[in-house]
Amino acid sequence: EVRTRFAPSPTGYMHIGNLRTAIYEYLIAKSQGGKFLLRVEDTDQARFVEGAVEVILKTLNIVGLRYDEGPDIGGPYGPYVQSQRKAIYKEYANKLVELKGAYYCFCSKERTESLGNDSESTTVPAKHNCQCKNLSAQEVSEKFRNHESYVVRQWIPAEGSTEFHDLVYGTVSVENSELDEGVLLKSDGLPTYNFANVVDDHLMEITHVVRGSEYLSSTPKYNLLYKSFDWDIPEYIHLPPIMKTAEKKLSKREGDASFEDFVSQGYLPEAIVNYIVLLGWNPGTNEEFFSLQDLEKIFNIAGLSKSPAIFDVNKLKWMNGEYLRRLGLEEFNDLALPYYKGISDAEIELKKVSALLQKRIEILNEIPEKVDFLKNLPDYDISLFVHKKMKTDAVNSLSSLQAICEAMASLEPWDLEAIEETLTKVISQLGVKNGQVLWPLRTALSGKESSPGGGAELAELLGKRETLRRIEVGIS
Ligand code: GLU
Repeated sequence: EVRTRFAPSPTGYMHIGNLRTAIYEYLIAKSQGGKFLLRVEDTDQARFVEGAVEVILKTLNIVGLRYDEGPDIGGPYGPYVQSQRKAIYKEYANKLVELKGAYYCFCSKERTESLGNDSESTTVPAKHNCQCKNLSAQEVSEKFRNHESYVVRQWIPAEGSTEFHDLVYGTVSVENSELDEGVLLKSDGLPTYNFANVVDDHLMEITHVVRGSEYLSSTPKYNLLYKSFDWDIPEYIHLPPIMKTAEKKLSKREGDASFEDFVSQGYLPEAIVNYIVLLGWNPGTNEEFFSLQDLEKIFNIAGLSKSPAIFDVNKLKWMNGEYLRRLGLEEFNDLALPYYKGISDAEIELKKVSALLQKRIEILNEIPEKVDFLKNLPDYDISLFVHKKMKTDAVNSLSSLQAICEAMASLEPWDLEAIEETLTKVISQLGVKNGQVLWPLRTALSGKESSPGGGAELAELLGKRETLRRIEVGIS
């Protein structure tokens, strides 16, 4: 059975890249009838952020990534929060020392660094010459008795090379001498990512490890751990970064929007999911619109690409607009309502506003600026009536407005059809082009060059009194 996991570190937000990883993990499992699980990787207590786990749970829920096992729902391989698995890591660290895949290291931080081993991280190449490897069992027990502080460090063969296969990147091979003898268990007894991740992926029977390509260079070390334990090595799927430009990665820390940021800007979760799935996966057809349910059926690992994709906000915007247009009016209206602050349904029929907007906007937070004029007619000057293509100028616009005003004064009932008929009559009476009547009307009613509807539609929305009042403002 295929088993994948999403293993986020709780940082307080959902980076677009992490969300894409989660979606791929989910789809790899679901497209093969497997299980998808959530594991919270919170062993770095220094980075602990209040409420961060809730952000993860909430995001997965909003986008519809239902996990089969996880911190809040449990499962047969729990607990699914690494800080609750301390005893497990300790047990396996001790076992690994017995298997000679690791050693107890009593060196001070200073000495460790002088040897070229970074005490915590794994970025500095090891010199493979820590004296602690030569301690006898007796010496070690004595140090334990004296409560000397220690870490468990990976023991990497000084010679040879380590190879692994990645389903996206192919075969990767690294000289062992390049690999750092990194810390697996810290002096506070908590594991590092490098250890906890491997132990958990094994114990939770993960078949496909999916993660960012920044982990590619450490994967040989993980493989050595699997080998020391004599565990089956999972399939690896590393994903290229999502880029902001050809050179720069998309980065929340550098101010790029997270998933929550996009949602609060008025993007639909479904559209975001659809867009980011295509950043690194190709369906093999020209089809671009996919629901998560569609993807569960057609997703395949072969469609994953190793070339970095550029995040194109304009494309996401366009796609979001398409998603908005595919909604029923009722549904769109429900989503739009919070953006109509200050406009009451008693004065303006908001559903009609929604019907106009649904055709024209790409993201929901374009709405306030687009409907502002319904509340207050903005100040404008006469140059607004001048439009070359419409063949309008200050003089003919004023006479058009006058004629409209007269024709509309007695109009009853006030509905779109009647308003349109009246305008048609005015146009033929004056013997002018359509635009010469419609442009002045639209601009007089909105005070702007662009508005979410034509003159007749705006007139209907504003009602008779307000329409006539605004036309008079235009004439005066
Ligand atoms: N906790 C790691 C991260 O958030 C997970 C990486 C992995 O999936 O192995 O980057």
